[in-house]
Amino acid sequence: MGMMAIYKCNKCSNKFESQEGGGFLFDELRCEKCDEMKRVEVVGKNSRKPKGKVEKCKCSGNFVSGLRPMCPKCKSRDISVEKELVHYD
Ligand SMILES: [Zn+2]
Ligand SMILES: [Zn+2]
Repeated sequence: MGMMAIYKCNKCSNKFESQEGGGFLFDELRCEKCDEMKRVEVVGKNSRKPKGKVEKCKCSGNFVSGLRPMCPKCKSRDISVEKELVHYD
């Protein structure tokens, strides 16, 4: 379900390595502002509902599920997968 990949930014053509997805018993949330990742346990398989309360990021942004990785160069989330590296769950 989760995947590490090389991504290409559709805006500035920058290539970068990142990951997205999550697993059966966890989800990977991303900060909407700085793209910090946080792994949280979820309630039941594939429910995507975090157990307990999710704290805010240290940059004061919210952690959100299902966001695409952010281009580290121009902060765009308009990206495509260039090459899939590893799948995990
Ligand atoms: Zn943040
Ligand atoms: Zn970019």
